[in-house]
Amino acid sequence: MTHQQTLIAFLGGTFNPVHNGHVLSAKELQQVLSAERVCLVPCHRPPHRDQPGVSSKQRLAMAELAVAEHEHLCVDSCELQRDQLSFTVDTLEHLREEYGEDSVLCWAMGTDAFASISSWHRWQEILAFAHIIVLARPGETLPLHGEVAHWLQRHQLPDVKALREKSRGGILLQNLTPYPISATSVRRAIKESHSVAHHLPAAVLNYIEQHKLYGSH
Ligand code: ATP
Repeated sequence: MTHQQTLIAFLGGTFNPVHNGHVLSAKELQQVLSAERVCLVPCHRPPHRDQPGVSSKQRLAMAELAVAEHEHLCVDSCELQRDQLSFTVDTLEHLREEYGEDSVLCWAMGTDAFASISSWHRWQEILAFAHIIVLARPGETLPLHGEVAHWLQRHQLPDVKALREKSRGGILLQNLTPYPISATSVRRAIKESHSVAHHLPAAVLNYIEQHKLYGSH
């Protein structure tokens, strides 16, 4: 019998708010990778953007509502437990300790996030703890020149199968069904009283309305 290693993928973000682009991408990713689960990891104190107007606890609560009915999705609140800037490399060091040396850990991010990764704290060390999966995002392109492009060339994996051959250290480019949605456009639509029902899980929309977030009434 062949031994299948545990493979877990994480999708970090501010989730301000979590939207269907996140949930549907996470679900599809879980299937494509045959991952045991895909965890959303809400960021507590984003190093590269202003502190979101909505608290970490509320963003976490929305993420939990969004995954509640999806068997293989979960939320990991580890960044809320550290009252410091939420550096991905620190999160992955912690997750590697938690899941052990042999688990295959994958940190997923959209093309937009990957394109700016060289501004992240100790960014090249991320591969010492996990693989990176770059999710194609409508309207965003991969860097073709410069240090991130070279880094990608050096570490790129040919396919999903190659992910399981090592517990960390590779970069996989993964196309999923495109969902041209962003939290920015969702926040703007709510503020302008446009319907966002088709962009958000129903429970998240209820939460936003109940708590009057993003200027909703
Ligand atoms: P904002 O508009 O506030 O920047 P966002 O919609 O990009 O928010 P984040 O919480 O920043 O949401 O995203 C978390 C991660 O999910 C990032 O790596 C981002 O690239 C990715 N992501 C977000 N939306 C999509 C989408 N529609 N398709 C694919 N990836 C996405």
